[in-house]
Amino acid sequence: MGYVITIDGPAASGKSSLSRELSKKLSIPWVSTGAFYRGLAYAALQRKIALTDKVALSELALSPAWRVEMTPEKTQVWYENTDVTEKISQEEVGNYASQVSHYPEVRSSLLDHQRQCAFKVEGLIAEGRDCGTVVFPQAEVKIYLTASSENRAHRRAQEQGQDQKAIEAQQQQRDQQDTTRKTAPLQIPKDALVLDTTNLDFNEVVTKVQQFIKTKL
Ligand code: C5P
Repeated sequence: MGYVITIDGPAASGKSSLSRELSKKLSIPWVSTGAFYRGLAYAALQRKIALTDKVALSELALSPAWRVEMTPEKTQVWYENTDVTEKISQEEVGNYASQVSHYPEVRSSLLDHQRQCAFKVEGLIAEGRDCGTVVFPQAEVKIYLTASSENRAHRRAQEQGQDQKAIEAQQQQRDQQDTTRKTAPLQIPKDALVLDTTNLDFNEVVTKVQQFIKTKL
């Protein structure tokens, strides 16, 4: 298993953009662990499995009908050999993902797959909500990214060409669910670098994180 850099934080805090950039600079792969929850929710909807049926969901979590693949640009999700990466990126699917992620049985079914991303590689960047606390508690470097709610909604609304106010309301609901659930809630890992990016541009964020990584690796 290689070294691990974890990046946790609320919805649309810039975790994927930062992961992609660091992945290029360090020449190691990155994975969005959120893609596992989004992919599972999408597969459940396709199969008409209720998002409250935790037994069926945790079985589906282990099914070969869908899979996650790391690429330099994005974490891809395949459902029955169709690339559904674009489809699952919608905020609506983020919300379904948040609903299924609430069940401990579902989380533990996905854990092995997430951890396997760190096998047979020199290093891995893993982003999500519990990467530094549960998936990779021994990670060498832990980062917690945040930004104002308005700033995060603006970012996602621009990316997806949707109404900022509507996105902000959906994200707030999702963050509320993710921070208050009993199992693996979103929280700041011990020893993490906490970065509020509201008033920082992307290059400043990357520079600060690179400086932090140098002190840890
Ligand atoms: O990061 P992303 O927006 O793709 O995550 C979608 C949802 O998946 C989150 O709102 C959260 O409920 C869940 N998730 C999680 N643990 C992770 C990553 C994502 O519970 N490590």
